[in-house]
Amino acid sequence: MNSCNVCQAETKNKCSNCNQVAYCSVQHQKQDWKSHKSNCHPFRVAHNELLGRHLVATRNIKPYEIVLKEAPLMRGPAQISVPVCMGCLNSIEPNDHITCDKCGWPLCGPECQALDEHKAECQLTEARGQKVNVQEFNGPHPLYTCVSTVRCLLLSETNPANAEKFQQLESLEQTRRGSNQWKADLASIGQFIPKFFRTQKFSEEEIMRAVGALQINGHEVPTSDPPHVAVFYTASFTENSCVPNLAKSFTKNGHCILWAPKAIKKGANLSICYSDAVWGTADRQRHLMQTKLFKCTCERCVDVTELGTYYSALKCEDRKCTGLLLPIKADDWNGCWRCRECQKQVQRKYVDGILERAIKDIQSMEKTAENGFKYLKHYEKWLPPQHYHLSEVKILQVQLIAKDQKELMVLPDEQLQLKLKYAKELIELYEILAPCEVRMLGTLCFELHSAIAEHTRRVALQSNLSPKEMLEESLLYVEKCVNYLQYESDIFVEGHILKQAKINRDALRMVIRIS
Ligand SMILES: [Zn+2]
Ligand SMILES: [Zn+2]
Ligand SMILES: [Zn+2]
Ligand SMILES: [Zn+2]
Ligand SMILES: [Zn+2]
Ligand SMILES: [Zn+2]
Repeated sequence: MNSCNVCQAETKNKCSNCNQVAYCSVQHQKQDWKSHKSNCHPFRVAHNELLGRHLVATRNIKPYEIVLKEAPLMRGPAQISVPVCMGCLNSIEPNDHITCDKCGWPLCGPECQALDEHKAECQLTEARGQKVNVQEFNGPHPLYTCVSTVRCLLLSETNPANAEKFQQLESLEQTRRGSNQWKADLASIGQFIPKFFRTQKFSEEEIMRAVGALQINGHEVPTSDPPHVAVFYTASFTENSCVPNLAKSFTKNGHCILWAPKAIKKGANLSICYSDAVWGTADRQRHLMQTKLFKCTCERCVDVTELGTYYSALKCEDRKCTGLLLPIKADDWNGCWRCRECQKQVQRKYVDGILERAIKDIQSMEKTAENGFKYLKHYEKWLPPQHYHLSEVKILQVQLIAKDQKELMVLPDEQLQLKLKYAKELIELYEILAPCEVRMLGTLCFELHSAIAEHTRRVALQSNLSPKEMLEESLLYVEKCVNYLQYESDIFVEGHILKQAKINRDALRMVIRIS
């Protein structure tokens, strides 16, 4: 038995959305909704030694369900940023902007000057007694490095409720202290702020704690151009996994949406990917260590085969052997590698040599379908078909082979087959390895659906029949596309794909019903 959140009477009835508070009656539930609403999530915040604070599902969560929608505690320019508008955080044109009449920071216009966002650095700059003067617009500007930290430090004045929440976030100040990054931040932010703003308002420790909290908890938000950084409160308690159960999307106004691409069982820990799930394990681990200061031990990271996909493996040095090379020790990507078939060992130098060439060639490649084919043909000598470098090029190929409907209709059969094959393989691979990469998966599903539709058209032309099964397959992938992209705003390319996908889906449903 639980007690009613309003009158304390004993009751069995819980709020069905969060499963965490109880009510004796519908009336009392309704009465309490206003105050309960902001805490009503299908998860609770739990705590243990290993994970610190983390989120645990309090009921079964259905596929595509939104688990959390949250506004940022603060947002601001990235630490390395070109001059941006201090209101909307979009880049500004050298000859087409205004400067704030109080502080001199560039803004795109009066609407942006009126935004609350700008208050923090505006007050601090005004108190300095001298306006800022930004003259260089090409490339990163050093003045912008400290702005987001200033906004965090002044939250107690601009937004006390958010300041209290910001204080609770992890900064890992003790772990960061003394590292190269920390030293660079100390010079460009910690010592810079008091000097530049001529203020003794913040201690060095206070500033460095804010820098740490920002780096550990900051999310890159693509709703501005260039992307800005934002800190979210509840979302920051989701733990990291390289095969997470939550996907992250952003609304037009920069709020974050965490949602479930697949069903989640009651009692499961909720996770997002702090690095990039499309990268191989060695790269993800390096990135996590550098930016978030920890070693990931998720199920994908402790398994060198990466869930049986061999995403980071190389082909055996011996061309007659069909085995694959992988690190001898699962957690040491920098040590020796060994063939799992013939047991032959190779030095780290051999592995690095291949990978370095493979990445350089992708970077310097002019992105055309023809070059993509050449790349794949060349590197399949050393890399197995699902290797992350080959997969990266195949993702490009799916887009480059027939860039639009017009090109698709005149595409040679052989290339259409390749487009179909790559798209299908990639979707299969990433649904195992990176189910949270919803924008990529959605886009691939759209490409596959249109390639199947074109193939169907050609078969129908030749045989005079309308192959219903193929139409149904095309519909299946366009429906998947809509599911994956359903929370994408129309300010993103994916939002536009979503719109087209819905039109195509409805048309296909109609055709199938008639045939
Ligand atoms: Zn009651
Ligand atoms: Zn509830
Ligand atoms: Zn603006
Ligand atoms: Zn101002
Ligand atoms: Zn991991
Ligand atoms: Zn071998």
